[in-house]
Amino acid sequence: MSAPNSKYDPVEVASLHPTQIAQMVEDALLSFSASTNLEELKTARLAHAGDRAPLSLANREIGALPPAAKAEAGKRVGQARARINAALEEATIRLEEARDAHVLIEERVDVTLPSARRAPGARHPLTTIREKVAELFIGMGYEVAEGPELEAEWFNFDALNIAADHPARTMADTFFVDPPENGLVLRTHTSPVQARTMLSQKPPIYVICPGRTYRTDELDATHTPVFSQVEGLVIDRNISMAHLKGTLDHFATSMFGEGIITRLRPSFFPFTEPSAEVDLRCFACRGENLECRACGGEGWIEWGGCGMVNPKVLIACGIDPSEFSGFAFGMGLERTLMFRHGVKDMRDLVEGDIRFTTAFGVEI
Ligand SMILES: [Zn+2]
Repeated sequence: MSAPNSKYDPVEVASLHPTQIAQMVEDALLSFSASTNLEELKTARLAHAGDRAPLSLANREIGALPPAAKAEAGKRVGQARARINAALEEATIRLEEARDAHVLIEERVDVTLPSARRAPGARHPLTTIREKVAELFIGMGYEVAEGPELEAEWFNFDALNIAADHPARTMADTFFVDPPENGLVLRTHTSPVQARTMLSQKPPIYVICPGRTYRTDELDATHTPVFSQVEGLVIDRNISMAHLKGTLDHFATSMFGEGIITRLRPSFFPFTEPSAEVDLRCFACRGENLECRACGGEGWIEWGGCGMVNPKVLIACGIDPSEFSGFAFGMGLERTLMFRHGVKDMRDLVEGDIRFTTAFGVEI
């Protein structure tokens, strides 16, 4: 900034001279109109309207003028600024419009061009069938129970009356988890959830437990080391085998259609007494075709296991068998799904091929 000017005439300061100011305005206007994009205009704005622009520097000189000269010089600079700002605004509008027009051309979409097709995905059919089963039982007043897949050996076996020398406990069937002294296994069935539920809830208990289970099977057309079960458990007063049969029939009919009921065949499981195998009325021939391929002419297809909860299991879980009784049943979900959709190979369920999921996963 110059030293205070003792003279009256503002033109004494060169940068405030009208010719100089006019030149600044002209330079600015030229620079704005020469800008071909907003980036260039930004540079021009900093050069001609920024803090270090000639006009801004000239403006600072006003302070050094004698009071009488300040008004005129201020007016001159003010008018110059107004012209520069107006021109800047005009240029901004012009270049923004140009940019927008350019974007419209650049980003134009030709809707007639062939596109890369992306098929919508689908949920895995095991997920949908698991939810369907859960919803069916929720509709009957059951709750969905869950338990850990990495399970204590005690819950997986002992609580369910599966003795230490039971073949299912051997290495041949069960994934034991290191270190062995921790007594952890990958649960071999969903039945430990029964024990956990009975220990944590007081009867009456009505739970359904769909979940993943593990056994040391090789993956082939009918086996998979990771599979899904659905387990049902009811503990209440005066529960009988008739309640079990009625529940299974309703389950079967809901999953496979009217007229598809169940048949119980005597069997043995450590955690139920009496125990039964659950067969399903053949949904293909309904027992009317001796040549039927689905059931081999039997009219029935094996579906799962069931029985009245063994009093030993009730006692192990702190429930008085003289007051309460109950039933339990379990089915493989993969098997149920394969019946339902006529899937022949278990591997289709686990390989994650999108074509399989799309075909079966959209069912509601
Ligand atoms: Zn059949």
